[in-house]
Amino acid sequence: MPDFDLAINNADYLVTCNSKGEVLRNSSIGVRNGKIAEISSATLTGKENLDARGKIIAPGLINTHTHLAMTLLRGWAEGVDLQGFLEKVWAAEGAIMDGPTAELGTKLGALEALLGGTTTTLDMYLFPEATHRGAVSAGLRHVAGPIFFDFPGLDGMEWPARLEFARSWPERLRKIGGPKIPTYLMPHATYTCSPEHLIEIAELAQELDASIHIHISENEKENQDVKERYSKSPTQLLKDSGILNRHCVYGHGVHLSDADLKEMKNAAVAHCPGSNLKLASGIAKIEKYRRNGIVVGLGTDGCSSSNDLDMWIVMRLAGYLVAQTNGPENMAAESIFRMATIDGAAALGMADSIGSLEIGKSADIITIDLNSPHLIPIHDVFAQLVFAAGRSDVNDVFVDGVGVVRDRRSTQLDFEELRAEVINRISTLK
Ligand SMILES: [Zn+2]
Repeated sequence: MPDFDLAINNADYLVTCNSKGEVLRNSSIGVRNGKIAEISSATLTGKENLDARGKIIAPGLINTHTHLAMTLLRGWAEGVDLQGFLEKVWAAEGAIMDGPTAELGTKLGALEALLGGTTTTLDMYLFPEATHRGAVSAGLRHVAGPIFFDFPGLDGMEWPARLEFARSWPERLRKIGGPKIPTYLMPHATYTCSPEHLIEIAELAQELDASIHIHISENEKENQDVKERYSKSPTQLLKDSGILNRHCVYGHGVHLSDADLKEMKNAAVAHCPGSNLKLASGIAKIEKYRRNGIVVGLGTDGCSSSNDLDMWIVMRLAGYLVAQTNGPENMAAESIFRMATIDGAAALGMADSIGSLEIGKSADIITIDLNSPHLIPIHDVFAQLVFAAGRSDVNDVFVDGVGVVRDRRSTQLDFEELRAEVINRISTLK
């Protein structure tokens, strides 16, 4: 009888991202019931066995802010800032987006994410049941949640219906299934949800024991607009509404004042350098946030702003920006890799179950093939991961111990079929 359901054996490097930052050489990992059951220098025996010689094993990457369905609008809004972007994209969404289309776009996004080594995403979008079904069908750990705007969105929901839907969200989620996730409510932003509505969301979050995900202080104009309307910063609005009493993940958080940072004891930041640079939103001072005790994870944002779901590029950009703003001596590749893994898990409130390779945690694991000219020799494994490796080097991806990507191919979805569906669906967009 094999000891494990899955054994990944003899990896050149096993990057744990545990609290000691251990990197083990020539090591193996054994998985039982979807959880990491053994880490050893011996060769293990599983029902399924994978030889990881010539590979790095690492925790799956965690994308802490995205809109997966927007893969369908990649390249649709170019040469614009945040406000111009919203105008163009909302019009396009109005033309094509409904539940089935959101499901299709999310399937595509989930496939892209997984093939690139991302195993968990915090995904804000309309039609969350549909998006969740799409992502789960690809095998992704998909943290979804009901979205809130003051106005009826494309889903046609008036405010009371939106609240009612959100109240039933945990039950709806249970019915769809998929890898375990916490409950999230997702007000879009303080410029699209009134203070009164934010209070109702905070109360509902309390009732459901839910976390909050919201876009905050993405660019200066957003801060100015909110200040003009309410004489407060977006963070002050969150505080006054009670939202900041809950665990909260800020999408972007580029322009946060010292006063804002003081209010963020329960709030983490999803740093999205690709999107921020492309929309010229500014540079988030993440080292300062971290010095203030704020957890920072990394995110891609949606594909219509930053055009891809590539967490490897996000890691590089995050590293370059820290070097540029704080000096290269303050930019450690290891700390960037941790932002994409264990810190991302902590940002999502999931550090007890994902984000590192440790016994008892969910087996969300990736292998990175080192058999390429750009990945030899290795002097510093973290520098290699952050500044040299890319998503095409990801060979295998496991979520809860299930090999959802093997040898660079999805085991869950037929890409040819998906491609035909996407092209057909998008053909009406003008
Ligand atoms: Zn966003």
